[in-house]
Amino acid sequence: MTQPSISSVTASVALIADELERQQFPSAALYVLATPIGNTADISLRALKVLGLVDAIACEDTRNTAQLLSRYGLSKSLFAAHQHNEREVTEKIIRRLQSGERIGLVSDAGTPAISDPGARIVDAVLKAGLRVMPIAGASAAVAALSAAGLLSDQFYFAGFLPAKARQRETVLAGLAVLPATLVFYEAPHRINETVAALTLAYGPARTIVFARELSKLFEQIHRCPLGEAADWLAADPHHQRGEFVVLVEGAPEASDAASVEAQRILEILLEECPVSQAAALTAKITGQKKNALYELALQLGQSAD
Ligand code: SAM
Repeated sequence: MTQPSISSVTASVALIADELERQQFPSAALYVLATPIGNTADISLRALKVLGLVDAIACEDTRNTAQLLSRYGLSKSLFAAHQHNEREVTEKIIRRLQSGERIGLVSDAGTPAISDPGARIVDAVLKAGLRVMPIAGASAAVAALSAAGLLSDQFYFAGFLPAKARQRETVLAGLAVLPATLVFYEAPHRINETVAALTLAYGPARTIVFARELSKLFEQIHRCPLGEAADWLAADPHHQRGEFVVLVEGAPEASDAASVEAQRILEILLEECPVSQAAALTAKITGQKKNALYELALQLGQSAD
């Protein structure tokens, strides 16, 4: 199949640019703009239009945003908006919006307020009765979900887990019975301990998906059972590098997990056997799925073996 030529892509862009000219971008509004999570081509035409139009941009880090804008041939008045200057900067943004300006809000990458600064500013702007408009685009969590192939219709975005082991365990235990895909952000220096904690909390059977370096040169999506995840990380030093979204298959629905009878049998066997053996025997006796019974045993308070 032939690739579309640059000139045909340019023609499509020109058509949309025309359409953009007719769109409304109200003044006295805060524009919350998503920016790429790696690949600079992942910016929307609408975002480019708004970045060019706003009076100023509040940025997590002005140097990063200046660099990004220069890739698109743009230059704007920038000011810092991060967790350490939130109060003053929010007042400043509200004053400027009240005087009729358009202000952009961006983080270093992806969508502001998603494990990034922005939510407090948006909250204050809304409370002041001013308009907030999202300019949708990349977010690592959604990109990872779209390519993970996990079949649940629901997901739970947990963001970064606490660094302290005890707190992390508590958070993971609280999510153990959710029948939704669990979505975590993780830094490379913590990926091994996070995977160990996930395996301990949810057992070896659930599927884990590593979505690494999305939209970048070394993008990688790897799926395996949690029980094989530590080996995969250890198999190649590259597997532990870069930026990660980690997804874990949700718990089976309680109603599917086991019949009342299967649960009764499982509970009896758990008094005598380790979790995996009790689950395997119950599966043989009842015809229920071993993985679901394993999960049920964990939900009943047993520790993974
Ligand atoms: N606001 C961003 C968003 O909408 O995705 C997230 C910002 S958060 C501070 C940064 C984390 O997002 C990284 O540590 C990583 O877990 C995830 N992330 C960002 N870019 C990524 C990428 N290209 N590939 C995989 N994960 C990424």
